[in-house]
Amino acid sequence: MSLTPSPFESFIRRVPKIELHVHLEGSVQPATLRELARGKKRPDLDVEQWVLAREATGYRYAAFMDFVEAFKFVALLLETPEDYALATTRMMEQLAAQKLRYAEVTLSAGVILWKKQSLEPIFEAVLEAAQAAERRLGLRVNWIFDAVRQFGTDHAREVVEWAGRYQSRGVVAFGIGGDEARGPAELFPEVFRRARDLGLHTVAHAGETVGPESIRRSVEMLAAERIGHGLTAFQDPEVLAMLRDRAVPLEVCLTSNVATGLLKRIEDHPLRQMLEAPLVVTLHSDDPALFDTTLQEEFQRAANCFSLSRQELTELCLAAARSAFLSAHDRQRLLAEIQSAATLG
Ligand SMILES: [Zn+2]
Repeated sequence: MSLTPSPFESFIRRVPKIELHVHLEGSVQPATLRELARGKKRPDLDVEQWVLAREATGYRYAAFMDFVEAFKFVALLLETPEDYALATTRMMEQLAAQKLRYAEVTLSAGVILWKKQSLEPIFEAVLEAAQAAERRLGLRVNWIFDAVRQFGTDHAREVVEWAGRYQSRGVVAFGIGGDEARGPAELFPEVFRRARDLGLHTVAHAGETVGPESIRRSVEMLAAERIGHGLTAFQDPEVLAMLRDRAVPLEVCLTSNVATGLLKRIEDHPLRQMLEAPLVVTLHSDDPALFDTTLQEEFQRAANCFSLSRQELTELCLAAARSAFLSAHDRQRLLAEIQSAATLG
């Protein structure tokens, strides 16, 4: 096996990439989990056994709820503000190493509240760690506070208020994730309205584990500005047309959809049809440590499985820059940087 990357691989490594769909908790690598477990009295959270179980299945989950349990395991190891700061620093190092220039990182604020932890010291520690890493690594991050949809509307409202409080300090959006079936979009119009009234952007995981109706409701009833996954859009031509006409970006996460058992193979993903529709498509890693992937690998897989050209890969990066919750000035700078890397050859 050659250790020299092909020109195509070099291009993927070099082009400035943007993450719009990555969870902090899902970015905690086994080495960091071991660091977090050190000195804790949590015999119920056996990291070695957990890592062995992940390796045995190749970071694939028999059912979506098994993945939710794995996410919960990581979240339970994040006990203190220092733990969250460590996770933030490590995540940013991993992102910067892949030539990422900008990321909107989802923090499960809802899970922190569920754990009955105090959000304020935790997010202050996260911000401090992120700012130090930004200076050191040349990577900028903003934050999305995420509520657990099956915990209901009161819970989601609390997350919105926290997001509003931190708006001037890097929280750009509010979102919902979790079990779409037990927390359908139609429960949350008021919550999303409140988020918008506070000046926040809004996003929603939708059409991941349930059908296209969830995507329609997330766009029409919640006015979500970006849709996480949108995998089932193709089951309903009307939903597809709506996404196309309104140019709602879909945050595609290929390995994630296979790892959580929604698709058998990456080749089964409708990425090619989405691009040809044409929908606004961006490419992301979701929970890279829980799926044993990176954004760079997602680009490589997209290129291999769907024969994407260099121009199409560049377009995925440009679409992410256009869909980012940035000022026009900052967006323009990112677009120019991607374009200049793409024309370098
Ligand atoms: Zn996600």
